[in-house]
Amino acid sequence: MTKHPKRAWLPLALVLLILAGVVTCMWTLNQNLVPGSSKNSSGTGIHLGASTLSSENYRTIPMDQDDIHQGLLILVNNDHAYSFPQESNLVSVYQNKNKSYQVSTTGLLLQKDFLTQFNAMMKDFSSAQGIKDIIVVSGYRSKEDQQSIVDQKIQQLGKEEAMRWATVPGYSEHHTGLAADIGIYTSDGKSPSYQGQGKYAWINEHCAQYGFILRYQDDKKDITKIADEPWHYRYVGTPHASIMQQENLCLEEYTDYLKRYPFDGKHLTASDESGKQYEIYYVGAKGKTVDVPVPNDKEYWISGNNVDGFVVTVQL
Ligand SMILES: [Zn+2]
Repeated sequence: MTKHPKRAWLPLALVLLILAGVVTCMWTLNQNLVPGSSKNSSGTGIHLGASTLSSENYRTIPMDQDDIHQGLLILVNNDHAYSFPQESNLVSVYQNKNKSYQVSTTGLLLQKDFLTQFNAMMKDFSSAQGIKDIIVVSGYRSKEDQQSIVDQKIQQLGKEEAMRWATVPGYSEHHTGLAADIGIYTSDGKSPSYQGQGKYAWINEHCAQYGFILRYQDDKKDITKIADEPWHYRYVGTPHASIMQQENLCLEEYTDYLKRYPFDGKHLTASDESGKQYEIYYVGAKGKTVDVPVPNDKEYWISGNNVDGFVVTVQL
């Protein structure tokens, strides 16, 4: 039998083929590891987990049942009215804003926490995109303000259609002073409606880092009962905004989600891209006064959820 020398290259060709495959695979993997090449460009970068108590050193803060209606995480919608507490941290936007955006009237009010973070976001937005034409067109509304909006809509659209668009006074998130509508300022006064696209997409990509959420999104309208509103931002604070964005939860869903982490169970942990770590837990409000446990040795803040309890956010 004579040998077939032609076949001697076959094993070598196979090895080369496998090598080529491995190199291509590694190159592809490497491309995915390059920052910014990942498909997840939402920018939240938050990591979640669950843990038992991080401190053994707790004390309790006595809270009133009524206190569940106050705080950055309150849920206000058609089922949960705003309680208009006497104490509010409303401040004038006109007097406290920076030069990175505009405000439609001198009388517009928002909560101080909202404004502090909104100023920071608008400053970064305007230096990133080179524009300063965002205008705040609506902020805090009293019951009377909301009633006149409803009356105006009824005149324009008739009662049935109007009530599909306008919220009953007492149930609008604008009552909280933690929500604002924004637009685009033009010198002719004909501001186009804000859609959050083009250069403005920056805001939606980064708002969670400043504690803001886009409150009414199309894919959640069955839950929020409010149609897509790309102009309406709500302040909930960090790290909550990032968690909601990453887990794709609207505030109604997030309020329920946090109940999975009661004080006497596992707590939700979150670490953001700047390395800050948080621990979050829920305390149900039963009875007239509620003892809310808080760590002695760490910074924390308590918020009511406006439904049935409190949420404690601890910075570790
Ligand atoms: Zn609004």
